[in-house]
Amino acid sequence: MTSKPTSRDSWHLDTLAVRAAVDKSQYGENSEALFLTSSFVQPDSETAARRFGGEEDGYIYSRFTNPTVASMEQRLAALEGTEACIGTSSGMSAVLLLCMGLLKSGDHVVCSRSVFGSTLKLIGSEFGKFGVQTTFVSQTELDEWRRAVQPNTRLLFAETPTNPLTDVCDIAALADIAHQAGALLAVDNCFCTPALQRPMDLGADIVVHSGTKHLDGQGRVVAGALCASDALIRGTFVPVMRSAGMSLSPFNAWVVLKGLETLGIRMQAQSQRALELAHWLESHPRVARVYYPGLESHPQHALAMRQQHGLGGAVLSFDVKGDSPEAGRRHAFHVIDSTQMLSVTANLGDVKTTITQPASTSHGRLTEAQRQAAGIQQHLIRVAVGLEHLDDLKADLSRGLDTYGRA
Ligand SMILES: *Cc1c(COP(=O)(O)O)cnc(C)c1O
Repeated sequence: MTSKPTSRDSWHLDTLAVRAAVDKSQYGENSEALFLTSSFVQPDSETAARRFGGEEDGYIYSRFTNPTVASMEQRLAALEGTEACIGTSSGMSAVLLLCMGLLKSGDHVVCSRSVFGSTLKLIGSEFGKFGVQTTFVSQTELDEWRRAVQPNTRLLFAETPTNPLTDVCDIAALADIAHQAGALLAVDNCFCTPALQRPMDLGADIVVHSGTKHLDGQGRVVAGALCASDALIRGTFVPVMRSAGMSLSPFNAWVVLKGLETLGIRMQAQSQRALELAHWLESHPRVARVYYPGLESHPQHALAMRQQHGLGGAVLSFDVKGDSPEAGRRHAFHVIDSTQMLSVTANLGDVKTTITQPASTSHGRLTEAQRQAAGIQQHLIRVAVGLEHLDDLKADLSRGLDTYGRA
């Protein structure tokens, strides 16, 4: 209940990442408490009435108020530089809450064509059923975004860098386009996290998170969040959460809360390894092309370095060689199946390095024509770099790289 007086407003990000939280309980725990309780006992009926009526702060019921979830929200808001945050049960339920809170029948959305697959489906198909119309545009061509805006455009939605090709969009330019149209810009910051990129500093209105990825960082829980102004969180999103219940469990919130304490050093260390691995792959004779924002060969390298605090992030992709889609697929599978240490899984943001062929996993539901249009070929492999020693990562990838097509 009590805490030492603090000068929290002057704290640096590194400090907020380990210190921002609700007050300690009467026991003075040093590691934040996990409040595994569905409801909270009210001191008396008058207090209960005031709390339920919103006239007094106080915990009521964990669908919409819980101290552990509140600690995670305070810490993530502090890192993103937003006034407030609301935790959600997954990254996708954060997108759901965003759309339920902001959109109504007749509204229009402009969205990058390269956003996460389930986001494409949720905004484009599911909300299409309720009369929300969406125009999908190029990740990088700002003119396409400008031309797509209509009088009823309410929301621009972007994700940068994209999965798996790491295309980077200009957040500040998109914020200008949104605001000139009287619309809001939401940015999915899953790949960079606030350790590398703060969309709010660049003019975005809402930051969307999958806590499942780097925020947890050790592949344990599914979680999500929206970060925005107090007016948007309290005025728009909390009422929807209270009715719709896409709530973050206290346990999962606690895991993410503790993950945030090491987010900064993890993102630096994983980005450093990813950059070294990208350089090594780029000079490898049996690699056709590498996609990584930290490489000078990346088409938006300068923008990425400006926007992402000089770091490329932990995800890279590369093409092996192959004369046909069949050969490309065979070679990619050979490289993946020859690894002995890397985790063959489509998840990312873990300290354990993961490897996957996007064409048959994360982008397997697309038609071959849609994949070609998106540039996701059969010979593309994605690696989400973790914290293993670089020599071990290279050795594990070399086994298949040195032998594919030579069977
Ligand atoms: C994984 C992911 C999501 C969805 O998050 P979940 O926690 O799996 O629901 C959204 N956006 C991006 C960029 C992701 O990688």
